[in-house]
Amino acid sequence: MRLDDILYTQGFGTRRICAGLIQHGWVRVPGVAMPEPGTELDPEGLVFEVQGQRWVYRARAYVLLHKPAGYECSHKPSAWPSIYTLLPAPLRQRPVKGAALQGVQAVGRLDQDTTGALLLSDDGQFIHRLSSPRHHVPKVYEVTAKHPVDATQVQRLLAGVVLDDDPQPVRAAACEATGTNTLRLTLTEGKYHQVKRMVAAVGNRVEALHRSRIGDLALPEDLPPGQWRWLDADDLRRVG
Ligand code: URA
Repeated sequence: MRLDDILYTQGFGTRRICAGLIQHGWVRVPGVAMPEPGTELDPEGLVFEVQGQRWVYRARAYVLLHKPAGYECSHKPSAWPSIYTLLPAPLRQRPVKGAALQGVQAVGRLDQDTTGALLLSDDGQFIHRLSSPRHHVPKVYEVTAKHPVDATQVQRLLAGVVLDDDPQPVRAAACEATGTNTLRLTLTEGKYHQVKRMVAAVGNRVEALHRSRIGDLALPEDLPPGQWRWLDADDLRRVG
């Protein structure tokens, strides 16, 4: 593949901009003394630098973001900054054929005040599969509640509670008190404000919410809020 095409697929701008970056000498490729826009390279696993930024070619982008509080999972946020501002420009600009939006998109949403694991990708099938109501990937939430958590609340969350928009009860796949005011809750579906509404339905109130796990993929302890990392094939298997 031509070097300017490689840069283009990775989100470094239009083909013209990518060619310009190369012609200005701002792109370094190990083993290529004088890269040119038309230099042919095998993109698989190619490592290069653009204006000092190291990049590894990936045909598709799969990333895990540790969402901090105070960010909206939206391209057009209403009151808070967008989570997309936490990502480098190439991830936001990657061209996606046939899609209305370019760049990686979040798999589902977390509320503005919720923290924790959020997946993003430019692979439409992956996003669709993981967001589908038929795909019951368990998601684990750590809840800090306003009032002490008691055994009755845990039992009711496991047995199922009725929310205001659906007569069908929704239940936690797993639920345990982890402290006086804390709860670990596993859900296999993703209704609007589901954790907050379920906890409210049993007479308590969510004060803080953190998603610690998606499928078998735990949010790594060394990934601080606001940071992201690539997902490898093993991570993707864990996600389900
Ligand atoms: N449930 C909620 O209530 N909020 C979230 O952000 C995620 C799940």
